[in-house]
Amino acid sequence: MEINLISDTVTKPCESMIAAMINAKVGDDVFKEDPTVNKLEKKLSDMFGMESALFFPSGTMANQTAIKIHTSPGDQLICDKYAHVFNYEGGGVSFNSGVSCKLLDGKRGMFKNYQLVDAINPPDFYHSPKSSLVCIENTTNKGGGACWEINELKKIKKTCREHNLSIHLDGARIWNALVQKNQTPKDYGLIFDTISVCLSKGLGCPSGSVLLGSKDHINSALRIRKVLGGGMRQVGYLAACGLYAIENNIKRLDQDHKKAKQIEQTLNEMSYVELVEPVETNIIIFEIKKKIDSKDFLNKLNDFGIKIISMGGPKLRIVTHLDYTDELHHNFLRILKKLKF
Ligand SMILES: *Cc1c(COP(=O)(O)O)cnc(C)c1O
Repeated sequence: MEINLISDTVTKPCESMIAAMINAKVGDDVFKEDPTVNKLEKKLSDMFGMESALFFPSGTMANQTAIKIHTSPGDQLICDKYAHVFNYEGGGVSFNSGVSCKLLDGKRGMFKNYQLVDAINPPDFYHSPKSSLVCIENTTNKGGGACWEINELKKIKKTCREHNLSIHLDGARIWNALVQKNQTPKDYGLIFDTISVCLSKGLGCPSGSVLLGSKDHINSALRIRKVLGGGMRQVGYLAACGLYAIENNIKRLDQDHKKAKQIEQTLNEMSYVELVEPVETNIIIFEIKKKIDSKDFLNKLNDFGIKIISMGGPKLRIVTHLDYTDELHHNFLRILKKLKF
């Protein structure tokens, strides 16, 4: 039996999600005539208390579009050194928007307001790139599923307003943060100019992300999405999965978090483990003892049918998800306990 824990993107749609797809009413979304896409966009913009929304094939395209909306070529965006937009979007920040990144040295993908204040270039000093956008990620991916404190975000928002900076949330895993921190989507709608949310991570859809923002921002996003080749036709089949997932798959994320906590506990008891980063949501980042080659470690797990990934250097990552059942969890913990090095 395979236990795939490389990411929460490995899930496959369940029968009810497929039924929702089959029964979806669809139309040509490039003409904005797909009723299911329109319904999903309306549902999410209402949830977050934002004016408007646009469906995207991927989170990367939603983020890249947001960055393009908020910047001009030559500008600089400010983000944590771990940010997905900097590390894992193929250099799209410079390719698509002609923008550079100023990286903040945060902890677990999260920086403090005072670090942002120090990083903003003075607007009249024309030798430096113009600071125009701050990107926040919640939960943090490379940071191991850590959640921001809402009070820090409020301070950061205030700084952005004072310095005329836009603020974008990469909310690929915002659902995990909402469940873990007992927050509401509107808490975030009040802080951010634009928000991208993924349907294909913890929520278990095969594809799709949604960008939220003001009417003006989403009008610009529509044009940019077209330029990037992201205009899709009868995509209500995918939006139907999103609507199903919002109804059925948000609350249950606490089960993924609970399993991740139990994996953290077990790893902490194992002699082959050097350290486990504190687990808050569904991501576990840990290091094995230096004397063990991490390739050997991954191979050994693979022999048991278990897949996890390396995050570079000594760091390994496990992600729990919708298809990681109680039975698989039980087996995984049992195998972790009997590994010998
Ligand atoms: C997965 C992810 C994205 C978007 O990724 P896609 O694979 O393009 O959908 C964006 N930001 C973060 C933090 C992510 O984890």
